[in-house]
Amino acid sequence: MTKEEKLKEIAQQVAQCQKCSLYQGTNKAVPGDGSSEAKVMFIGEGPGYWEDQTGLPFVGAAGKLLDKLLQSIELERKEVFIGNVIKHRPSENRDPLPDEIEACRPFLDEQIRTIKPKIIVTLGRYSMNKFLPGEKISQIHGQARYVDFSEKRYIVISMYHPAAALRSGRIMDEIKKDFLKIKLFLEDQPNKKAATKTEEVDQQMKLI
Ligand code: URA
Repeated sequence: MTKEEKLKEIAQQVAQCQKCSLYQGTNKAVPGDGSSEAKVMFIGEGPGYWEDQTGLPFVGAAGKLLDKLLQSIELERKEVFIGNVIKHRPSENRDPLPDEIEACRPFLDEQIRTIKPKIIVTLGRYSMNKFLPGEKISQIHGQARYVDFSEKRYIVISMYHPAAALRSGRIMDEIKKDFLKIKLFLEDQPNKKAATKTEEVDQQMKLI
């Protein structure tokens, strides 16, 4: 099975999933979208109104900002993969519950294992918690960390959620800066041992 076929299979399983009650009252499941060969995978929280209408991730206001941020580092949506911690919209966009995150976890895990991106960008605290539990987004946003997951080492860069940037000029400035780190690590030599040292990354940033 090709990676693309595998992603389609996961999407079909998501569409049929009734492991938690979230599917009730939704229009469409939002399994995630993008390239099976993506070097960068973005993981948000969960679908909102427009995502539930379309079945696609990040198509509302936060999605429009994500598109602009991608443009700022010369990436197109079709080159990356965009997914979420949960795949059905919680009513009134409430925060996902632990059992809902757990029910959806195997789908996200399988998407990561299928795509094997070089860089995982977490958007918001729920996806950050998956890889870096106990951390605070205000303290670690924009830092690149190595995280071992399912027998592979990933560069994980935690960022604020784009919706938070739409509410705060300060967070908007931070997320714009943090996005530059993606570009930096995409261009980086594969063996470079920088990822756990923010200072070192910041030094490199000054060079670009
Ligand atoms: N917010 C998210 O976390 N995910 C989406 O897909 C849309 C908005």
